[in-house]
Amino acid sequence: MQVVIIGGSDAGIAAALRVRELDPDCEVSVLLADRFPNYSICGLPYLLGGDVADWRDLAHRTREDLEATGMQLLLEHEAVRIDTDERAVHARASTGAEHAVSYDRLVIATGAGPVRPPWPGIDSPGVHVLHTMDHALDLQDVLDESGAGSAVIVGAGYIGLEMAEALLQRDIRVTVLQRGPEVLSTVDASLGAPVREELVRRGASVCTGTAVTAIEETGGGLRVLEEDGREWDGQLVLVCVGVQPTTDLAVAAGAKTGERGAIKVDQQMATSLPATWAAGDCAETHHRLLGRARYLPLGTTAHKQGRVAGENAIGGRRRFEGSLGTQVVKVFDLVVTRTGLRDQEAREAGFHPRTVHVVCDDHKAYYPGARHLHVAVTGDDATGQLLGAQIVGHRSSEVAKRIDAVAAALHARLAVDELNDLDLSYAPPLGSPWDPLQQAAQQWLRET
Ligand SMILES: Cc1cc2nc3c(=O)[nH]c(=O)nc-3n(C[C@H](O)[C@H](O)[C@H](O)COP(=O)(O)OP(=O)(O)OC[C@H]3O[C@@H](n4cnc5c(N)ncnc54)[C@H](O)[C@@H]3O)c2cc1C
Repeated sequence: MQVVIIGGSDAGIAAALRVRELDPDCEVSVLLADRFPNYSICGLPYLLGGDVADWRDLAHRTREDLEATGMQLLLEHEAVRIDTDERAVHARASTGAEHAVSYDRLVIATGAGPVRPPWPGIDSPGVHVLHTMDHALDLQDVLDESGAGSAVIVGAGYIGLEMAEALLQRDIRVTVLQRGPEVLSTVDASLGAPVREELVRRGASVCTGTAVTAIEETGGGLRVLEEDGREWDGQLVLVCVGVQPTTDLAVAAGAKTGERGAIKVDQQMATSLPATWAAGDCAETHHRLLGRARYLPLGTTAHKQGRVAGENAIGGRRRFEGSLGTQVVKVFDLVVTRTGLRDQEAREAGFHPRTVHVVCDDHKAYYPGARHLHVAVTGDDATGQLLGAQIVGHRSSEVAKRIDAVAAALHARLAVDELNDLDLSYAPPLGSPWDPLQQAAQQWLRET
């Protein structure tokens, strides 16, 4: 059987590895538009900030590791057309030569691209986006060669914040512009506020409530303009305002699309096209609590969906069990994280959400080094079902692993009082007999 995979990043390689693992007799060809198979794009901010010295270190696996599994990698081969009747992908190599690659089964893993708002000046030299290794290498060249002294980052989502840290680490003056009232709109404003304070404490200017309308070239740099007349200057501008699924190829072949234009898939990651599966940022994601598709482009999801798509492409019946939107970001010494639904999302989905916020110590106060954790727990007032949690705290406070316990509880559809029943670990330097999560759960139950 010949399996062709379009896309050689998280989802595509996960699919290819799974096929080769399950059936070493299957021929697997992976087409990539670029020359970076299986690189961690999640690591790009750490390359640009200097924590990772060499871009090659960002490879999850080397090209040789991948080829040793028996997959064929066709680098710099852009798929330009899918012919579902003749079951072939037409690809253009970097030489310009076009040829067809036949398939019995096809996996589309073309990912996403950064949103470039239609602002005048968006294409000016010095305006950057960050989604691929090529974007990162371009930006790194600029930083290394011209030594930009100032930058304006538009968008304070997790990529904007990670890049603010990266550029501050390089002693660049950073201004972060955020449209909403607080940075990191994926968490409640009371959890975003400490992140903004941390950025300011580290030297960034942060302006919320800004609606950028244009970018202008000035003599020595760029000026970002807002509708109410405010303006910010920088030698470079980094636009981090979200991503959109890359679906032109699939759509031209007749694939149905859904949420935010992503490829419509069922829980087996099958598309509406014959013998074709899709995974990762190009596809919809089944949300486990909502029981319906959402668009949640994340690396964790891409890996899982790719594995499911690969298995099912060769006859498996694996289901993608769903995402909970679990996310985490580190900004200097602070970690902020969430899983499940926040109040408004839950209400829109027909739940009766109530959220409590507690601030407690990450471990017993008598043991040196205790720090405050801010924990928010959301449950359904009508049924007691646990719906979500958010935490912000110091990076030494096991913030990410604590949210993972909530993600596991949500996956198992536990109630808030069952979160309180969980046998979580405890030693004084690491926690409390009642973990901060359970202290928040108890507060939620008390207020019922
Ligand atoms: C800076 C940054 C930081 C991030 N940090 C995190 C994080 O901390 N945690 C997290 O969970 N997620 C994070 N993400 C998101 C995560 O990286 C993505 O969700 C994930 O990489 C998506 O993988 P993918 O394989 O679906 O798509 P992509 O990584 O977008 O890859 C798409 C692939 O398709 C190929 N392709 C596209 N079109 C064609 C074509 N026509 N022909 C051939 N090949 C084609 C591309 O060359 C590429 O190989 C981050 C993203 C960025 C940009």
